[in-house]
Amino acid sequence: MSVPLRQSFRWFARPLALVVAVLLTVVVATGFLGLRYLQERQAANLAQERNRQVLETLDRLKAVIADVEAHRRGYLLTLDPQYLKAYGVSDESVRRDAQALQALVAGDPLQSHRAEHLALTVAAKLREIDEIVKTVRTYSGPAALAMIRSLDEIRSQIDQMVDHERFLRVDQERRAEALERRKAWLIAAAIVIVAVLAGVALALARLEAKRRRKAIAENIALHGDLLARDKKIRRLVDSDIVGIIIWDLEGRIFEANDAFLHMLGYDRADLASGRVNRTDLTPAEWRDRDARTVDELKRMGTVQPFEKEYFRKDGSRVPVLMGGAMFEQSQHQGVGFVLDLTERKRAEEALRRSEERFRTLVQFSFDVYWETDAQHRFIHQEFAENLADAPGLGSEIGKTRWEVPYLEPDEEAWRKHREMLDAHLPFRDFELARLAPDGSKRYVSVSGLPVFDGRGRFIGYRGVGRHITERRRAEEALRAMQAELAHVNRVTTMGQLAASIAHEVNQPIAATVTNAQAALRWLRAQPPDLGEVRDSLARIAEDGKRAGNVIGGIRALINKVPSRKDRFDLNEAILEMVALTRNEVLNQGILLQTGLAPGLPRVDGDRTQLQQVILNLILNAIEAMGGIDKGMRELRITTEREAAGGVLVTVRDSGPGLDPADVERVFTAFYTTKPTGMGMGLAICRSMVEAHGGRMWASANEPRGAVFQFTLPLERDESVPARASGDGDNEVRGDRPQAAEAEPSATDGRSVHARDGCE
Ligand code: ADP
Repeated sequence: MSVPLRQSFRWFARPLALVVAVLLTVVVATGFLGLRYLQERQAANLAQERNRQVLETLDRLKAVIADVEAHRRGYLLTLDPQYLKAYGVSDESVRRDAQALQALVAGDPLQSHRAEHLALTVAAKLREIDEIVKTVRTYSGPAALAMIRSLDEIRSQIDQMVDHERFLRVDQERRAEALERRKAWLIAAAIVIVAVLAGVALALARLEAKRRRKAIAENIALHGDLLARDKKIRRLVDSDIVGIIIWDLEGRIFEANDAFLHMLGYDRADLASGRVNRTDLTPAEWRDRDARTVDELKRMGTVQPFEKEYFRKDGSRVPVLMGGAMFEQSQHQGVGFVLDLTERKRAEEALRRSEERFRTLVQFSFDVYWETDAQHRFIHQEFAENLADAPGLGSEIGKTRWEVPYLEPDEEAWRKHREMLDAHLPFRDFELARLAPDGSKRYVSVSGLPVFDGRGRFIGYRGVGRHITERRRAEEALRAMQAELAHVNRVTTMGQLAASIAHEVNQPIAATVTNAQAALRWLRAQPPDLGEVRDSLARIAEDGKRAGNVIGGIRALINKVPSRKDRFDLNEAILEMVALTRNEVLNQGILLQTGLAPGLPRVDGDRTQLQQVILNLILNAIEAMGGIDKGMRELRITTEREAAGGVLVTVRDSGPGLDPADVERVFTAFYTTKPTGMGMGLAICRSMVEAHGGRMWASANEPRGAVFQFTLPLERDESVPARASGDGDNEVRGDRPQAAEAEPSATDGRSVHARDGCE
């Protein structure tokens, strides 16, 4: 019997014993009470029977007495001997009944006494009557009466006894009824007890049945469990995942699954021949560990998994993880599992190498490696060893980047950055400045990529940071140098433009003089023509303004004006430069055309710088065309909306053009083909355009010449078109007779064409 069954039986035995004890008690008590009832019933029956017999005897006695009386009375009254016939019989019956009566009431002292007395009375009275009968010879009424009186006494005694017996009978009947009632109670009690016991027994039986069902279910489950476990173990043994061996403490291996044999390159024949022995499989440096394992197994019966190495059949080594336990029945043998760690070791090695590579990369490429969690708090930071003023390791862990004190960028940039982080987008080159201990600024540029887990949930950012303080300083120095060079360039350009400028300034002054003379002439006329005077004066004011503008423009170009941001009309700025170079264009006999897109949106930037770019391109083109026939010199400046949304400016000439190999070189600093050139003009132009977010490039013009182009981006919300200052194609021709009077600016002229010897 299994242990749980034995236990449950014990649990059941106690109430069962109780029930049996109660049952026995009930049976004994019922038996005793039943016996007593039977005895009492019997006694009652006997008493009733005796009572019945006594009454019958008394009745009979009474009847016999009545007979005796009747016969004696008849004889005494008639003296007919016929009446004496039955006499003997009656006397005898009376006596016999009187004796029988005595015998019947022997148990009742009172009745017994009465019966005795009755018997004596009967005997005496019968004798007395006999005496009367014998003595009477004649009819005797008085004798008959005396005899009747004697018999009345007997009758009275008989009646007394009858009454007594009747009384006894009533009592007996009452007792019999009480006895029956007791019997009924007894039976009812017995039924109730039996019913209760039956109920208890039923409940216990149910309980037992339930417990048995549960026990059976448990047994089935246990059995199923055992089967499943057995199956699992079998699967484990049969599968090629884990090597399983059965060995003894001496190192012999009796059983091994295929996985183990494959792992070490052995086969079943090797195993059967006993060649596969743990001691031989273990390299020397692992023998100590083996000894410890055996010791542990002896003491505890199991050994915790540990790593070691085995020799393969071919002599190579295989790293393994092994563990084992002794069999419970055998103190000497046990089972062990062996897991091939080759792959894991390889992966670990690969990981270690990758980690090393990554570290090297970080050391040489970046100054900071960082990781943040889903709330953008730093969870990991590594700083390059040579990083100056790195924050204390771990000092920023748990903080967000904006909780670390930074001097830059401004709030707006932070807001945009956080929006990007909250949208889980990658970011590049987010530049920050922190305060160095010496009070200077240290710049860091950080880039990061969002990281998602296997289920696509955002878990944080991973990224790098570069220390860009040196670069920022170099950039600042470069900017300063460029500004310096730009200035030099401007001055040089101005030198070249000296004649042109002189003309530009002279021209309005000459016009002013001419107009003033004309005004004086109109004043002197009779009558003076005041209308003409007014017109002349208006022209004088106009010319004065133009001279002022020219001088202001030149001053701005020559001065080192710091970079500013305006929103301005690009076409207008170009036209100003066209105006500035108009004289040179005319002198060189160049046909200058402009094709400025109408309604061009205003651009953002430094107007003067961009004007210098255009001026440079125009002057370069003029210079380049210096070597070709005058009739073929053409310069065209156009603006248009770019497909990408910006503005495209194009300056084409019909000069010698560029060698395809030089289209990029011309933009490098100090590249020049001119004896007096500096080779800085285009380099500065490109850097200025790029500083405005645009691009600049050169290409060949068709059928000849060079094309220089640059783009400028437009602010996204830019929708207000500039004043249509250069609508349509315009041309400035240098062959017009009076350049000063013709006002040959691109805004109102069609073209400029050089005429030989022009001023
Ligand atoms: P610089 O004018 O001092 O030489 P730039 O940087 O302005 O310096 O020009 C560099 C060189 O590019 C010039 O020397 C010239 O060889 C070439 N170049 C510039 N513009 C043109 C052009 N429109 N046509 C042909 N060559 C040009």
